[in-house]
Amino acid sequence: MSLENFIRAIPKVELHVHLEGSIRPETLLILARRNGVSLPVDSVDGLHEWYTFTDFAHFIEIYIAVCSCICTPDDIELIARQFLQGQAEQNIRYSEVIFTPYTHYASEHAIQFVDQLAALSRARDWATVELGARVNWVPDISRSIRPLDHSLTVADWAISGKDQGIIALGIGGPEIDNPPELFTDAFIRVRAAGLASVPHAGETVGPESIWGALKTLHANRIGHGVRCLEDPQLVTYLRDTQIPLDVSPSSNVCLGVVSSLAEHPLPRLLEEGLYVTINSDDPPMFNTTLTNEYLQITDTFGFDVDTIEQLVLNGVRASLLSPAEREEMEQQFKTEFSQLRDKCLQSGESE
Ligand SMILES: [Zn+2]
Repeated sequence: MSLENFIRAIPKVELHVHLEGSIRPETLLILARRNGVSLPVDSVDGLHEWYTFTDFAHFIEIYIAVCSCICTPDDIELIARQFLQGQAEQNIRYSEVIFTPYTHYASEHAIQFVDQLAALSRARDWATVELGARVNWVPDISRSIRPLDHSLTVADWAISGKDQGIIALGIGGPEIDNPPELFTDAFIRVRAAGLASVPHAGETVGPESIWGALKTLHANRIGHGVRCLEDPQLVTYLRDTQIPLDVSPSSNVCLGVVSSLAEHPLPRLLEEGLYVTINSDDPPMFNTTLTNEYLQITDTFGFDVDTIEQLVLNGVRASLLSPAEREEMEQQFKTEFSQLRDKCLQSGESE
């Protein structure tokens, strides 16, 4: 038995993962065929090759092509159910899942937000009951879309879904030329309604993007944020406030933010006393899963069982569940960690 078995078995949460970026390759091919969308590849192997990104702009281009295969509310329900099935298979008990509603609304199929949310709710209810996999939703604004009015539409949609599992607003897409400050009004609106702020920042643009997300959008967490290390003052601020960073190591490698996993700043972020959670971002597009992220960082950085437990509990505590729910989940996880330590690591220590 081993640390690998322990990582596979333990309960987990995931706070930064995109619904559209989680479509199973087989399902994407089915959706493309069913909806008459032409993709440049027609096999799972072909998709894996297609998911080789030269840079962030290339990734966005492919991401948009993937989104174009989603044409009906039934498509949304299908990918959400399959996604949650995959989370349950990894013993991910709770997920905060980003989706990009304006993309589906502004397409030729014009899926109304209310229909998108109804489809997500059907999948959410099913997964809660049948799989014990809970989920809440984070609609995000595509930061490159103009005019900017659309960001207020997305904010209003987010507020309208508060009773159906929408807990926060995000922004995603190209950071370059689209700073957080452009979206101030949308975030003022959702925060006044009691939703959280979880923008992407500090992935393809440096510290100024993270500062903008913190100061202007009042981020509760930062999506990625790994480039904070370029600014010592920002590191101090993040350490003092303990604002969590949703770190996605494989994503950073696949999109060229870092040159290899060994070069990833994760150990430094931890040494600096920053608050880090581990996430998969767009798992099939980066040929990963959340479990795989934990296995890879353990392998690459020699993390021990205590560090893994800490990172998982960081996720629980940084989630947007209520304090009582977080506390209950933390206690439950700790009990299971202890049992699984005995079961998986009894013959010795972690590898
Ligand atoms: Zn992301």
